[in-house]
Order: sequence, then C-alpha cells, then structure tokens
Amino acid sequence: MYPPEIRARARRLYLAGATVAEAARAVGVSYPTVRHWCKIQPEPRQQGTALRCFRCRPEVDNLTDPAAYAYLLGLYLGDGHLVMSARVPVLRISCSNTWPGLIDACDQAMRAVLATKVQRVQQQGCVNVQSYGNHWPCLLPQHGPGMKHKRPIVLADWQRGIVAAHPGDLLRGLFHSDGCRFSNRVRVRGKEYVYPRYMFTNKSTDIMGLCQSSLDLLGIAWRMNRGNSLSVARREAVAALDRHVGPKS
Ligand SMILES: [Zn+2]
Repeated sequence: MYPPEIRARARRLYLAGATVAEAARAVGVSYPTVRHWCKIQPEPRQQGTALRCFRCRPEVDNLTDPAAYAYLLGLYLGDGHLVMSARVPVLRISCSNTWPGLIDACDQAMRAVLATKVQRVQQQGCVNVQSYGNHWPCLLPQHGPGMKHKRPIVLADWQRGIVAAHPGDLLRGLFHSDGCRFSNRVRVRGKEYVYPRYMFTNKSTDIMGLCQSSLDLLGIAWRMNRGNSLSVARREAVAALDRHVGPKS
C-alpha cells in the first residue's frame, strides 16, 4: 500500500494534464499502479479540467454540455479572447456592467464546459469573466494573434457539428456579446406601435457568416443593413429569435 498523499499527488499531476507515464515517473510508482489510480478510480470531474477535455482524453468522447459550449463559442467569437501569453492560457470574456444576468450566464457556461474556477475582474464599465485552463485552446482552436476580423475564423469539423445541432445557443452567445434587441416606436395617427428587432454587428465576415447560417438553419429571416451589421426585423422572425435569444437581462 502506498501512502494516500503519493496517490493524491499522482492524480493531481494527471488531472493537471500530465500523462500517466509522467505522473508515474514523478512519484516513483509503477505505471500500472498509477494508471489504476488515475483512470480506474479517477477524482470527480469537478476537480480538474484535463479529464473534461474531450479533445485530449479519448475516454471522454463528448462535451459534457454541447449547448453551453455553443453559447460560450458565440460569446467568445463576439467579445472573447484566449490569452496565450500567461503560464496557463486564460479565456477572458468582457461583459458589460449593464447586464448582470449575462455575467452570470457567461460564468455558468464556462463552468459547464470546462472551468472549475471562474473569476470576475471589474474594469471600467465592464467585467472580465475569466478562467484559467490548459485545455481552453483545445476547445477554442480559433485563438491566434491579432484581431478576429483580420484573420480567418474557420470552425473545426467537430465544432461545426455542435453548432449545427445547437444553432440557437450559438446565436444567443453571438447576440449577447455583439448584438442587441431593441424596440422601434412608431406613432401613426396618435397610436403608438412598437416593433422589436434584433441587430448583430461584427467586423469579421466569417463570424457574420456563422450568424447568417445559424439563422438560416432555424428558418429566421435576416438582412444586412450595412456591411457589418445584420438585422432581424420581420415580426415572425423576431418572435422565432425570441425563443432562442430574448432580451438581455
Ligand atoms: Zn485538451
């Protein structure tokens, strides 16, 4: 029998991203024993991100929550950055102070997808919701130097599958970050009419294309107002998008 602290240390290394062989070498215990500790009796999922990354662990064949992933991908494409210069990569999404409900939703989506800890860093007028994780780059392979609209944003095949299955969740993320729902008020012969509509603005033609194709998948009519601004204004189209996005809160 090995002391429990040796076993715990091997598991911690494994959960932090080390291979079984590396963990075994580090604690000086045989490979089969460490493999048993790490794989047969793993820690609960919440204790590490490595076990949850389905891109790295063959035994995890799917995301735990693909709908939350599609939402988070939309937020990331809108207002997110993956900072690769830190020792551990950090996913950072700026959320306006105006919408506390969105800050909570962003936090929850990060936890549902990968994060064990989420931080909220107050900035002028916004909150950076952020999470450190070695496996964010596996799940958000669109990271790269420079602004998103100055480089191609192409989804991986596995991401395309998730977006096709959850287009409404991607749209909620996109509209929550770079979109809005507002009401046009029109007065005709003393009577006021209110026309709600949605706008989505993004300088990246690739991200705009994702918004358009997801709307198409749901049969929601849209049109471009300007080169980088999309509008959903027809009554039945707004009603359909309300079922997936709704007003910000
Ligand atoms: Zn990974």
